[in-house]
Amino acid sequence: MKRKKTVNFPSYDVVVIGGGIIGTFILYELSHLPLKILLLEKEEDLAFGVSKANSGIIHAGFHEDPKTLKGHYCAKGNALYSKISKKLQLPFKRVGELLVIKEEREYSALHEFMKKGEQNKVTGLKIIDGIELHRLEPHLSEQLVGALYAPSAGVINPYELIYTLARFARCNGATLLRGEEVIAITKDNSFHIYTSKGRYHSKVVINAAGMNGDTIAAMMGVATPAIEGRKGQEYLLDKKHKGLVKHIIFPLPTPESKGTLIIPTLDGPIMLGPTAENMQAKDREDLSTDQCGYQEIMERVKFMLPAINERAIIAGFSGMRPIPREHHDFIIGNTSVAGFFQAIGMHSPGLTAAPAIAMDVAKMVSNYLSESKLIQKQKRCSKDYQQKEHHCLCHTPKKLREVKKFSELQKLWKSDPEYGEVVCRCEEVSLAEIRAAIRDGATTLDGVKFRTRMGMGRCQGAFCTYRAIEVMASELAVPHHKISKKGKKSTIIVATLGKDHE
Ligand SMILES: Cc1cc2nc3c(=O)[nH]c(=O)nc-3n(C[C@H](O)[C@H](O)[C@H](O)COP(=O)(O)OP(=O)(O)OC[C@H]3O[C@@H](n4cnc5c(N)ncnc54)[C@H](O)[C@@H]3O)c2cc1C
Repeated sequence: MKRKKTVNFPSYDVVVIGGGIIGTFILYELSHLPLKILLLEKEEDLAFGVSKANSGIIHAGFHEDPKTLKGHYCAKGNALYSKISKKLQLPFKRVGELLVIKEEREYSALHEFMKKGEQNKVTGLKIIDGIELHRLEPHLSEQLVGALYAPSAGVINPYELIYTLARFARCNGATLLRGEEVIAITKDNSFHIYTSKGRYHSKVVINAAGMNGDTIAAMMGVATPAIEGRKGQEYLLDKKHKGLVKHIIFPLPTPESKGTLIIPTLDGPIMLGPTAENMQAKDREDLSTDQCGYQEIMERVKFMLPAINERAIIAGFSGMRPIPREHHDFIIGNTSVAGFFQAIGMHSPGLTAAPAIAMDVAKMVSNYLSESKLIQKQKRCSKDYQQKEHHCLCHTPKKLREVKKFSELQKLWKSDPEYGEVVCRCEEVSLAEIRAAIRDGATTLDGVKFRTRMGMGRCQGAFCTYRAIEVMASELAVPHHKISKKGKKSTIIVATLGKDHE
C-alpha cells in the first residue's frame, strides 16, 4: 500500500504580516525574546507601503488628543528615538517644531495646543512672540506673529530606519520573507497562514498590514473599521536650498491633517507638504501627484516662507494615510480571536509612535504566549546580537558623502577601492554602497535608492540608473531587463538582446 506523503510546513511562535515601520519595529522588539519569528511582506522589499512616502518627522506630540491612542503613543515614541537611534547607530536630529500663527487672536489656539502637549507629557514647550520667531527663523514671513516651540521634535530617514531594524532583527534570529502576500488565514490549535508562495503555522499572528489591515482582519472574522485612504502629496527642493529653515514649520492644523509643512529633512533637502485628500475605496492605490495639489502646497507654504523658489522643486511624490473609517485613531492590541493581534490604522503620527507601539505589542504577545502556556515566560534580552557577539553582521555601511576629511577618504578607499567609483554624483553614492545595498537584500532600483539615496538628487537618476542596473544584474546574476523599479509591473528595460541574457 502506498504511504500518504506528509508535508511539514514551517512553524513559528509569531508571524508578523507587513514590512512597514510598524511590522518591522514589532519584529525587532520580538527578536529580543527567545521566539521563532517570521515577517511576511507582499511587496518585493520592505518599506514599499505607506512607510515609503511620509514626511520623516518624529513629532513632539502636542497635536494629538490626550484621550486617544495617538496622544498616548506619540510623545512616548518620540522620547524613545534618542536611545534607539544611538543603539542602531542611525542618524536622527532633534531640529524642533514651530507651530506658527498669523494673527494675535490665534495665541489662544497655541495655548490650547500647549495644554494638550503637556497632558501628553511633551517636554520643553514654549510660546514665543514674533521677534523670537524671526530670530530663530529669519526667512519666515514678517506677517507671522508668534509660535508654539517644541524642541523635542526631530527628523529621521524612515526607510533607513526600517532596513536597519530589519538587519538587526535578522541578526537576532528573525526570518523575513518578501514577495509573499498573505491570502488566507485559518485557525484550529494554531494559525495556518497561506501566502502566494507557501504555508506557515504559528501560535500568534500580528496584523500590521497598513492599508490592507481591514482585509487581513476580515480573514479572521475580526470586526474592524474599513481602512480609508487619505492621500498626501509632497514636493522636494534642491539641496542648494538647504538651510532656508532649520526647524519644522507648521501652520495651525485643519480637521483632516496637521496642515502643509516646511520640513528640513534629515538628508538636507527641504520638503513641502503634505496635502490631505480623502480617497474613494477604488483609489486606495492612487499615488499620483497633480497640479492642483502642487498649487495648493505652494500657496500655503509661500504664505509662511515667501523666499521659496518654485524652480527649485526637483521631485514630487504621494503617500497614502490608512484612516480607520469613523474611528480616526490607531487600532492596537488583541482581538476577539485569541492569539490574533493588530497594529493597524496607522496614519500620522505612526512613524513617531512606532517604537512605543512595538514595545507594548511585544509585551502583549509575550504575556499571551506564557499565560496560554504556549511557551514558558522568558526574560527579554536587551542587547542585540551584534553587541552580544561582537559580530558585525548588522552593521550599516559607511556613506561616502559623510566622510569629510581627505585622510578618512584615503582609509575608506584602502578598505574598499569601490568607494572610489562615484555612481550617483548628485548624492555622492559610491559603487561600494550600491553593492552593500544589494547584499542587504535590494533586488529593485527603489530598494537600492531607499538604502543609499542613489537617484534622489537633482538629476533624479538620469546619470546613475543604468550603471546601477549593470551592477545589480551582475551581482544578482540576472539579465538587465529583470531589474525593475519596484517589482511587478515596473519594468525599466523591456528585453536584453543576445543569447547570454535570455
Ligand atoms: C504623506 C504622509 C506623511 C506622513 N508623515 C508622517 C510623519 O512625518 N511622522 C509620522 O509619525 N507619521 C507620518 N505619516 C504616517 C506614517 O507614515 C504611517 O503611520 C506609517 O508609515 C504606517 O506604517 P505601517 O507599517 O502601518 O504601514 P505600511 O508601511 O504600509 O506597512 C504595511 C505593509 O504591509 C504589507 N501588506 C499589506 N497587505 C499584505 C498582505 N496581504 N500580505 C503581506 N504583506 C502585506 C504592505 O505591502 C506594507 O509594506 C505620514 C503618512 C503619510 C501618507
